[in-house]
Amino acid sequence: MPRTDVAAKATPLTRLRRRPDRGAYDFAALAAVLDAQPLAHVGYAIGGQPLVTPTLQWREGSRVYWHGSAASRMLKAAAGAPVCLTVSLLDGFVMARSAFNHSVNYRSAMLFGKAELVTDPAAKAQHLERMVEGLFPGRWNELRPMTAKELKATAVLSMAIDLGSAKLRQGPPKDEGADLEQPVWAGVLPVRLVTGAPQDDGKLKPGVSVPDYLTRFSFG
Ligand SMILES: Cc1cc2nc3c(=O)[nH]c(=O)nc-3n(C[C@H](O)[C@H](O)[C@H](O)COP(=O)(O)OP(=O)(O)OC[C@H]3O[C@@H](n4cnc5c(N)ncnc54)[C@H](O)[C@@H]3O)c2cc1C
Repeated sequence: MPRTDVAAKATPLTRLRRRPDRGAYDFAALAAVLDAQPLAHVGYAIGGQPLVTPTLQWREGSRVYWHGSAASRMLKAAAGAPVCLTVSLLDGFVMARSAFNHSVNYRSAMLFGKAELVTDPAAKAQHLERMVEGLFPGRWNELRPMTAKELKATAVLSMAIDLGSAKLRQGPPKDEGADLEQPVWAGVLPVRLVTGAPQDDGKLKPGVSVPDYLTRFSFG
């Protein structure tokens, strides 16, 4: 559901200077990018050194979550600190009649805020369940329950989705004028993120088959 109680306007931090026509600042636009791609990059600074760590993200309502080892430098450094979390999808190579006009079709989001550590173990377990269920509905209850030790070894961070920008490019190349006379192929090579056929680990118990949620899996 689109939210109206978050900033839908650009701020000095989020206002796109390059191609502002491709930007959006509303919650629905940001959530649509997050929901289409679990891979995120979390940027933060340690002593002035920028670090950008790839990780998985998932959205719960108006917050974005990510997790990792409680010993992870990224999670320790990001907790309570300002972060920039990005998610991007490459949707196509845009091939023009000149090198200069080549581009890519994409959807991306940049979120800004302060990362908060989830400290309550029960809440942490619930968020991890949401992560698994968001990708593979029905799997959490098939699994051996998490132990207290595993839960302690896992850190979960979150951030409000209330300051950010989305940017999207779609469509063909933008050749004009004399360039259109060039005898060279131009158009879009679409790109999609796809999963392959499930490969079992060779240690399955008799009778265990590929779950439905794997055969239905697709990225947005
Ligand atoms: C898959 C992919 C490939 C790309 N390849 C190229 C490339 O090869 N060359 C290139 O120049 N650009 C590329 N871009 C676009 C790139 O991300 C930047 O938008 C662009 O380079 C402008 O950067 P800037 O710092 O001048 O942005 P500015 O417009 O100065 O940024 C100001 C603010 O706008 C917002 N913003 C900027 N870019 C984005 C974005 N992509 N998504 C969400 N919010 C944004 C941020 O809030 C930022 O703080 C690509 C984007 C994607 C997703």
